[in-house]
Amino acid sequence: MIRSPIARTGTLKPARTRKCAVKGCANRFQPRNISHKVCGADCAAVHAAAERKRLDAKQTRERKQKVKTRSEHIADVQVAFNALVRYRDRDQHCISCPTHLPTLADQPGGGFDCGHYRSRGSAPHLRFDLRNAHGQCKKCNRYRAGNAADYRIGLIARIGLAAVEALECDQAGGNWTIPELLAMKADFRAQLAKMKKETA
Ligand SMILES: [Zn+2]
Ligand SMILES: [Zn+2]
Repeated sequence: MIRSPIARTGTLKPARTRKCAVKGCANRFQPRNISHKVCGADCAAVHAAAERKRLDAKQTRERKQKVKTRSEHIADVQVAFNALVRYRDRDQHCISCPTHLPTLADQPGGGFDCGHYRSRGSAPHLRFDLRNAHGQCKKCNRYRAGNAADYRIGLIARIGLAAVEALECDQAGGNWTIPELLAMKADFRAQLAKMKKETA
């Protein structure tokens, strides 16, 4: 685009003042350039110290993230995954018995579990598969060994026989790398946020 002389004269208006970036300082000053953010030397020192503190905290956060083990990342994904399943199934009945899940919702931990059809122990590659996990009452999940026979009936009603059979012979995948786990966690969180927004 060619600038007209009129547009150029627009930049000749008197320089604006800027509010000092230091919290609690009410001074205004004339900025020399875009990165000039404080009113004077005293505020510059305060600002630099705050900036250093912020960067240190950021580095500490990043370092912590880096030293997390793979199993810690898996645990993180599990939290995000379970939250998604529990929200998705919040109005359902237990996948393997007629217990209505919302009636349990006042109990600690939401009152119901995220129960896996094929267990995390025997099919770890399906631990983050949304077909394989459903809201389940604690009685079924913990005291009836997952109530597998009734789970299958409930699962067929929800996702259909073909999907259940596909799930039953699914043996692939699972050896996620840490970047994959991070992406999965972000994806489950995004799906949950979207679902919450859509049902708000
Ligand atoms: Zn200042
Ligand atoms: Zn149940």
